[in-house]
Amino acid sequence: KRAQEMAAAFEDAVTKDGHQVEVVANIGGLEDAQESVKLGGEGVGLLRSEFLYLERTDAPTEDEQTQIYGDIARALGNDRTLVVRTLDVGGDKPLPYLPMPVEENPFLGVRGVRLCLEEPEILHTQVRAILRAAGDVKLAIMFPMITSLEEVREVKRIVAEEKAALGISNDVQVGIMVEVPATAVMAEQFAREVDFFSIGTNDLTQYTLAMDRGHPKLAKQADAMHPGVLNLINMTVKGAHAHGKWVGVCGGIASDPMAVPLLLGIGVDELSVSVPTIPAIKALVRTLSKAECEKLAAEVLQLGTAAEVRERLSRLID
Ligand code: PEP
Ligand code: MG
Repeated sequence: KRAQEMAAAFEDAVTKDGHQVEVVANIGGLEDAQESVKLGGEGVGLLRSEFLYLERTDAPTEDEQTQIYGDIARALGNDRTLVVRTLDVGGDKPLPYLPMPVEENPFLGVRGVRLCLEEPEILHTQVRAILRAAGDVKLAIMFPMITSLEEVREVKRIVAEEKAALGISNDVQVGIMVEVPATAVMAEQFAREVDFFSIGTNDLTQYTLAMDRGHPKLAKQADAMHPGVLNLINMTVKGAHAHGKWVGVCGGIASDPMAVPLLLGIGVDELSVSVPTIPAIKALVRTLSKAECEKLAAEVLQLGTAAEVRERLSRLID
């Protein structure tokens, strides 16, 4: 039985009516990458590159970063893609070697790509390392906390500038995280200018519902199943597909079996999940019908509360 399960782990995640979904991993480093391959992961949809920067007294050098991104991508093998998310710190996650002013509202402050654009040397170094590592492996680059097209244009300009400086011509895909409501609402405009989206439902929920994602009293209400969040996910997918771009979900709901039929029905192309859940999510996809998931999604997107959404989705699980 176990051997059968392990063999199945390496088969594609295709629905009963023949629709394939990529099931990839969220990782923090090399060990997670190795483990994801063993469990049938089809690539990495989110490398949280913060792990390279935190808990040290100086910034990681370009060479150190080139080495580690290359090592991780090689651990995935030739046909799996590694999406490296650029440094996502600031506000509540300080770096010892980078003085940051204390902010009253760190989640609404200089975090993610905003911090990188204020400290462009950090970003230039990381972009160069990613481009250099991309020589013989499949790498993509993704920017967190994107809120405006100006930010997209500026980070793309930096990628192009470093590519030219390094004399690199290979096509590294450039994507953004959709985790701010404005970006979800404007998905069509953003989709014209990037190669892919990855929806960060952890932050998208926090910013849509105006509830701190770590708040102990609000934990239950800060629910990605809130119809307000789900409709933003739907807008994001429609906006991307209108321009032929692919969309992943890398927030926590991608790893939640209850949410998977809904995400498939909405049309999400890739689920980036926590490493241990890869086999179960792939197995679940194989039990579903895309056509039925679409009907379910149409119904769920009209519901009024997270409780109603959960009640409707729980009816699918015996
Ligand atoms: C998210 O916000 O959903 C996400 C995947 O990013 P992080 O959890 O690292 O903020
Ligand atoms: Mg996030």
